[in-house]
Amino acid sequence: MVYPDTFQGFAGYSYEEWNKPKAFEYKPKPFGPKDIDIKIEACGVCGSDVHTITGGWGKTPLPLIVGHEIVGTAVKVGDDVESIKVGDRVGVGAQIGSCGSCDDCKNGSEQYCNTWIDTYGSTYPVGYHDGSDGNVTQGGYASHIRSHEQFTFPIPDALESHLVAPMMCAGLTTYSPLKRNGCGPGKKVGIIGIGGLGHFGIQWAKALGAEVYVFSRTDAKKEDAIKLGADVFVATANENWAAPLKKKLDMIVCCANSSSNFDIGSYLSLLKVHGHFVNVGLPEGEGYVINPMSLLSNGVYIGATHIGSKKEVLEMMDLAVEKGVRPWVETIPISEEGCSKALQKCHDNDVKYRVTLVDFDKAFGQ
Ligand SMILES: [Zn+2]
Ligand SMILES: [Zn+2]
Repeated sequence: MVYPDTFQGFAGYSYEEWNKPKAFEYKPKPFGPKDIDIKIEACGVCGSDVHTITGGWGKTPLPLIVGHEIVGTAVKVGDDVESIKVGDRVGVGAQIGSCGSCDDCKNGSEQYCNTWIDTYGSTYPVGYHDGSDGNVTQGGYASHIRSHEQFTFPIPDALESHLVAPMMCAGLTTYSPLKRNGCGPGKKVGIIGIGGLGHFGIQWAKALGAEVYVFSRTDAKKEDAIKLGADVFVATANENWAAPLKKKLDMIVCCANSSSNFDIGSYLSLLKVHGHFVNVGLPEGEGYVINPMSLLSNGVYIGATHIGSKKEVLEMMDLAVEKGVRPWVETIPISEEGCSKALQKCHDNDVKYRVTLVDFDKAFGQ
């Protein structure tokens, strides 16, 4: 069987063989009036895909198709969908459902809804508002995805599919904290880590008008950081790197993907009084230890944000068009071999700075 009865993709079948995805066919959830079927054209490869498919973040249903930076064409649109029509190019990120009626959902913070549903590896709850129950969500290394209108984003023509795909998760994950914590002209903003997330963070902070301070362990990525928009680059392997910047920054967005030897105390010392340290990277393991004493001298706040809302995705894409923000992307044709290569590169941190799977027609047909 093929679409519309089943969707095809490449799935992880066991945590041990996480880097050997194999062909998998599944039946999507029942089509609801607010649903959209998307024929996928490009899908970014996110660190979450690796953390999930390896079991690093905990148990997941298997077989599992990962991928939550999805771009494609709407091929079927439910009767109650208002903002999207058949033929539109649309995107889907890391969230594909929420209750739609709680305060968070009503106030543009649907990514914090208690009934959050992940784009892959979640189970639609029994009695879910669109009628599905018990279906496991499957991601974008696939021919199609069935998504709800709220979590389906019209894409501006100016943004090419393979470049806008990584914005659906990595882009939004870094845009939202900057926006919510007041990044803008006159602000000094720190970005820790230059990877898939950080390379977006630098660009958004610059595009929003801030002065951008970039922190990386060594000088290896200095040139890239400056090309991406860094005003000041700091290698934290250097002795006393923090001293000259004490109490200089308004906020820091931490995109680091490892918490080993992470010197959070030094970073906190860089913040002005009541400055914000916002975490968006999610390394596996225990995380870092914070000594309350390290918060006293400047009264800082430590927090986090979780992806972003639909309103923020749309704003973010407009900013990308207006200011020319584009991720640095390497493309790999989707296939069993291509998925394997992409996941392995992401796992090994061997990506500058994002991989997008492309050529879906070759794998799944027109
Ligand atoms: Zn809700
Ligand atoms: Zn992601």
